Amino acid sequence: MNFQYWQPEIEKMPRAELKALQLEKLKKEVAIALRTTFYKERLSKKGIKSEDDIKSLDDIKKIPFTAKNDLRDGFPYGFLSIPKEDVVRLHSSSGTTGVPTTIYFSRDDIKRWANYMARCIYGTGCTKNDVFQNMITYGLFTGGLGLHQGGEEVGMMVIPAGAGNTARQFKMMQDYGTTVVHATPSFLLHLETKMKEAGVERDSLFIKRAFAGAEPYSEDTRRRIEALLKIDVYNSYGLSEMNGPGVAFECQCKEGMHIWEDGYFPEIVNPQTLEPVKEGETGELILTILCREATPILRYRTRDLTSFYTEACPCGRTHRRLRRITGRSDDMLIINGVNVFPSQIEEVIMGMKEVGNNYLIVVEKDGALDRMTVKTEVSSEIFFDDARLLNALKEKIMETLKVSISISPKVELHESGSMPVSEGKAVRVKDTRPKDF
Ligand code: ADP
Ligand code: ZN
Repeated sequence: MNFQYWQPEIEKMPRAELKALQLEKLKKEVAIALRTTFYKERLSKKGIKSEDDIKSLDDIKKIPFTAKNDLRDGFPYGFLSIPKEDVVRLHSSSGTTGVPTTIYFSRDDIKRWANYMARCIYGTGCTKNDVFQNMITYGLFTGGLGLHQGGEEVGMMVIPAGAGNTARQFKMMQDYGTTVVHATPSFLLHLETKMKEAGVERDSLFIKRAFAGAEPYSEDTRRRIEALLKIDVYNSYGLSEMNGPGVAFECQCKEGMHIWEDGYFPEIVNPQTLEPVKEGETGELILTILCREATPILRYRTRDLTSFYTEACPCGRTHRRLRRITGRSDDMLIINGVNVFPSQIEEVIMGMKEVGNNYLIVVEKDGALDRMTVKTEVSSEIFFDDARLLNALKEKIMETLKVSISISPKVELHESGSMPVSEGKAVRVKDTRPKDF
């Protein structure tokens, strides 16, 4: 494979040099953090009064973790470290798990972010000859402007299409000869369903690649999108607290996402004990931003579960790779005492070719017990009037789920394209049980 690098000297930097660079940047970020009201208090309690109290990368352990609630408590300006008049933009999280949090950017912060994004995009093989249709929500959500700026930095022609409206998306793809798209994986699946309905011929489109992120998805879902749309799909990971997308991205090897360790210092810990896990083991990702001057965030508890690959990547980049995020530690459902991650269910159903492109997990109380129902569309190839076939499929889903998650939920089948699709992140779980039960 012919690999291309946006910043080869950094992307392939020997690890010892990379670590030295990280230490230098960590010290700088601590100095920045000490200018905020939040960290000034938090760090001085731990005896960190200046950047000189950080002498090695291991000293990061002296810094306490920062949780989402801290960011909420510090709202609006507790984490701001530059004069307000030097802020040029703000973004906020999608608020999937509660009140959104706000991040401020200086002019240089925006430039640095665009550069990390360009590294990601260029690393998938894109060049200035590409036409990039960004089919994700713009606005406060970082996914829109994040990829947009990165695309421009690479020199691609960027179409700020925004999310939704599949008919308009197809029209733009045909009119402008789109070669690359960015969307949530659920929207890409939806697009394929709509393509058939609208009678759009695959041959009338020029798309080769898609960047898919913002929500968890399984390897089976990736393969499904690749096979249905005949494109390469690259996993894109980020979160607004760490600028947004551009934190970790797949290279052309499509096996794990390189995390840009000169910009984002990663640790993986056991979410209960908060002690580091062994290299290669799964745990909660903790991130420290090393590339932002307006809003420093140190040792942020992402709640995202992942692990590092232990082997080097064939592409030659030295920045470590993260495995697919299987979900957030707070995504776990407890169904009659059994722990279930929605990602386990997705893995099972998306692996079956008779299953369509959309699904929803509903959890409710049935007396004292929990009841889980998996609602899923069937593939458009299946004739929805064939009761025998549908019953057999239901049985098959129930049995396979029983093997993988130890419980057999109710299964409800729906016609292809009939279940609602959200424009932003897909809502895959509807849990109506009283919260404190
Ligand atoms: P919110 O935290 O409100 O959802 P963000 O828009 O900042 O706001 O979302 C970041 C979160 O989205 C991440 O912490 C992670 O849980 C999820 N996410 C983003 N990209 C991916 C991806 N490629 N795979 C799995 N989860 C992802
Ligand atoms: Zn690689």
